[in-house]
Amino acid sequence: MGIATLLLTIIGSFLGGAFLWTLGEYLLHSSFHWAKGKGFPSRAHLDHHVHAGWTFDPLITLAWLGVILVGVSLGVFGALVVPPSVAYSLGAGWTVGYFFYEWHHRAAHLRGPRNRWERWLRINHFNHHFGQPMKNQQVTIPLWDIVFGTYYVPEIVRVPRRLAMPWLLDENGALKAEYAADYVIVGDASTSSERAKAIDRARAYANLEPVG
Ligand SMILES: [Zn+2]
Ligand SMILES: [Zn+2]
Repeated sequence: MGIATLLLTIIGSFLGGAFLWTLGEYLLHSSFHWAKGKGFPSRAHLDHHVHAGWTFDPLITLAWLGVILVGVSLGVFGALVVPPSVAYSLGAGWTVGYFFYEWHHRAAHLRGPRNRWERWLRINHFNHHFGQPMKNQQVTIPLWDIVFGTYYVPEIVRVPRRLAMPWLLDENGALKAEYAADYVIVGDASTSSERAKAIDRARAYANLEPVG
């Protein structure tokens, strides 16, 4: 194999692996919702819906390990049936695809959008959190939601105040004007009681949106 062919094979397989991840992103996330809290990965994800913030949970390293293991397996076992350059590039593309998703999911919760894609990503993802938990399962692109009929573009995202991402609000707790076209804050801070948390949890585990 010439160097140009090898390079093209590596790049093509890497992109193929990243594409494979996009389907993984959709199916893994959907399955956490379908399971309604049965099993640890589903519980970990639905708890993310209850808090809607982002704190580093050491348990997330288990998810990282699992995804890396799939990537390595794609390489090791794929190399038994296709050339190693294809198999390992595929595994690398899958793994990098996952961390790309992970990075941008985390960023969506922690800071405001900086470009059109990030603006879309946040509207899409927070409609999943606060509007329709069974829609918009994919975070980075809408492809598989469109294919499986779960894509939804909201007119506006209704965010319960107790679950609002910090970047949405100014120091007085009011919605920043720059986000008023995309978001509206509903409810008041007094709903951040233990009772509200219990209701949020029950609804998240039933794939229902949190009440305002
Ligand atoms: Zn999220
Ligand atoms: Zn979810």
